[in-house]
Amino acid sequence: MLPELNLGDHVRLRKSHPCGGYEWEIVRLGADIGLVCLTCGHRIMLTRRELARRMKTYLPKPQPPENPPSTES
Ligand SMILES: [Zn+2]
Repeated sequence: MLPELNLGDHVRLRKSHPCGGYEWEIVRLGADIGLVCLTCGHRIMLTRRELARRMKTYLPKPQPPENPPSTES
């Protein structure tokens, strides 16, 4: 199964792109997932099922700290 995907997350696929890149950034979430090759900028669309099959590593975007101590008020 696919982990929860978020825009801006990076994934590594099992098979390299013809340009030699392995890492993709998620740019669209929907019935199909839009991915942009981080090496050459090529954009592809994969179904969730297809992505789950091809994905090797999921690299979630580092989350910014939640509500850093604020100085407001
Ligand atoms: Zn590429």
